[in-house]
Amino acid sequence: MLLLGVVQDLKKTRRLLDLWSEAGADGVAFTVPFDRLDGSFFDNAKAARDMGLKVAIHPIEIGRTPCTPTEPGTHGFLLEKLALTMDNIKLLGLEPFLVIHPPRLAIPDMTLCGKKEVEEKTALENSLPFFDKLARIASQSSVSIAIENMHDPYANPGHSLYGYTVAQLESICNGRGFGICVDTGHAKLSVTSVSEYLNSSLNIVTVHLQGNDGSFDQHQLPNMKNVGDVQGVLRLISLNVPIIIEANSFQLLKKADESWEKTVEEVSDVVQAVRKRTLPQ
Ligand SMILES: [Zn+2]
Repeated sequence: MLLLGVVQDLKKTRRLLDLWSEAGADGVAFTVPFDRLDGSFFDNAKAARDMGLKVAIHPIEIGRTPCTPTEPGTHGFLLEKLALTMDNIKLLGLEPFLVIHPPRLAIPDMTLCGKKEVEEKTALENSLPFFDKLARIASQSSVSIAIENMHDPYANPGHSLYGYTVAQLESICNGRGFGICVDTGHAKLSVTSVSEYLNSSLNIVTVHLQGNDGSFDQHQLPNMKNVGDVQGVLRLISLNVPIIIEANSFQLLKKADESWEKTVEEVSDVVQAVRKRTLPQ
């Protein structure tokens, strides 16, 4: 089993690498805004790999970063960054998959202010030429593309994207050779459970394992009580695919500042449970 811990705070990468490796993870998955996918980021990734850690990359569009497949004007920029990332995956021997978000439903921010700013049909139509080109680039490399399932548009005030049903993900993945990344916390905040993704014809490439209390996308360390569809999640983590523990790494660092040992222990409990294909209580 390949088990990775998430690293989102790029300014404190080293501390997070230490935390995940001390807790027994095989490596890390970097969550990186598209405009940060540059030479200095890849130096970071190389340094992590040189520590003996496995490294995966999850390019994201955050806040007002002007990059989302919903906006045709940004397609070139996104594809250029993804092509560069695929080259570096090969060059540096990183994990050969990329998790990509579906199109945004709000532009330029992700925040919905009480209405859908982009109709779902428009978001899909505007993004399909991007996904077609991405499929062509990916087919020439050995990197798998996984589209991540999202929460419902209104379930997380700061983050609104398409892609929260099986049919929606099929409309992006089918015919393009893409798989999906099942995010357990997103599924909990959605009309579509983890089990429904498992029972679909979609190919599950990887897993984002994280939980919440049902109010918003909190990215808590996963346990039996916060992941939602427990039976589905236990089936999910018994698949032979890379599992990324996608806990909020800013909060993990905050906890670690109060007590390093306690935090390592808490994270290690999760890592050990997942290795046994289960979750802490
Ligand atoms: Zn995720």
